[in-house]
Amino acid sequence: MKFISTRGGEKVSGAKAIVQGLSANGGLYVPESFPAVSFAELDEMLEMSYPERAARILSKYLDGYDEKGICAACEAAYSKFDDTDPAPLVKLDDGVYMLELFHGPTCAFKDMALTVLPYLLRKGCDICGIKEEILVLVATSGDTGKAALEGFKDADGVKIMVFYPNEGVSKMQKLQMCTQEGKNVNVVAVKGNFDDCQSAVKEIFSSEECAKILAENNVLLSSANSINFGRLAPQIAYYFSAYLDLVSSSQIEMGEEIDFTVPTGNFGNILAAYYAKKMGLPIRRLHCASNRNNILTDFLQTGVYDMHREFYKTTSPSMDILISSNLERLIFEISGRDSKLTAKRMAQLKSEGKYEVTADELKKINETFDGGYANEEECVEAMYDVFIDTGYTMDTHTGCAMKVAVDWFEKNKKDETKMVIVSTASPYKFPQDVLYAVTGNDVKDSFKGIKRLHAATAMAVPKSLLNLRDKEVRFTRVADRKKLFDEVLEFVKK
Ligand SMILES: *Cc1c(COP(=O)(O)O)cnc(C)c1O
Repeated sequence: MKFISTRGGEKVSGAKAIVQGLSANGGLYVPESFPAVSFAELDEMLEMSYPERAARILSKYLDGYDEKGICAACEAAYSKFDDTDPAPLVKLDDGVYMLELFHGPTCAFKDMALTVLPYLLRKGCDICGIKEEILVLVATSGDTGKAALEGFKDADGVKIMVFYPNEGVSKMQKLQMCTQEGKNVNVVAVKGNFDDCQSAVKEIFSSEECAKILAENNVLLSSANSINFGRLAPQIAYYFSAYLDLVSSSQIEMGEEIDFTVPTGNFGNILAAYYAKKMGLPIRRLHCASNRNNILTDFLQTGVYDMHREFYKTTSPSMDILISSNLERLIFEISGRDSKLTAKRMAQLKSEGKYEVTADELKKINETFDGGYANEEECVEAMYDVFIDTGYTMDTHTGCAMKVAVDWFEKNKKDETKMVIVSTASPYKFPQDVLYAVTGNDVKDSFKGIKRLHAATAMAVPKSLLNLRDKEVRFTRVADRKKLFDEVLEFVKK
């Protein structure tokens, strides 16, 4: 399978797409076509373990990597999870299921891909014959940073540097990153919000000047953000696995269509579901859930993507995003893979902060996607209602998805299609906000929050979060967003 860029230009191998992250013209790499998975193959996958299923999906995209090697890497990656099943499905109600993707080392769904990405990258470098040191640059709204740090810490031949918005992440997220261990890691806070952070990092990626200076230092840049296909591919796998689990537990018949509701920020998670559908997985609709930063809700209703709006800090910080990078991949598909048009729209977004798709394109998008959002109050109510009715506790991001799913149920009372709600973080990652939602108690301290949330829910507390209390803070630097490359150089030369 070859990869092409959403903005045209060269064709590259999967290995190159992963090592490079972003194409030279700023476009995102997409597979030349979508490999089909037949029902016979789905049947065969019923018997497989999660790592085997994941390896099967990944190897369809990544030739040059062998399925056995990928499988061993997936087994090693998912053995770091706290549940024997890395992506368990929990039945909430008749026809409603939670797909829990937060059982990894850093308690957010980013672990599903970022525990595997280091292998994909290292192997990719071998395949491409790359000898330089790799520098992974990450812009994070909170969860990617920690998951990437944990995935790449002490990896040979790689350094990793994470930038996060100084005031834009939760206390727990910040503590997780700033106490990171490992000799090849660096974490810097950036003055500004996530979009500022992401744009500044993207600029380093697309600057020839920066590339040249880094090359002089024998360093090559790579990305662990969800613009990297190596992030998307392992995410496609859990949609397949969830479907297979529903079949093998007799909740659905093989071939029956189901829906997913996905809490969305950068559009990476939900795009992986769309790719699974393109590969033949029987998915009917995808419900895109946002928080108060509801630019995607508006886009899915009007076809206009318009950044001229206020940016809100919410209790679901990983969704506080106005530039959803991966939407470019959907726009590309919907335009009939028109790279010129996609490039033009992305240029418009950059210069005018706005672009629009045609009525026909919007109609095509709406055949699969619809969007909704929850404001802060609605998110709290959704979390509370489910906790009272079923005893199930979810995090704030999943709370937004719950509100959107419930809205769908209320508007479509006769719809019998099974719904899977994707649960993206452990409630203990946002303990004060979740505690407030389920009990009304307001505490100032995160660890008190954890203690009380445990008392109220009896859910097991992840050790990695409890241990944070006693860890040394290693990173305190705050940088101006115009000066990020100076920070990078300093780290490279260290
Ligand atoms: C990253 C993240 C999201 C958003 O996922 P995207 O792939 O960026 O759409 C949602 N919830 C949590 C907890 C996250 O960490």
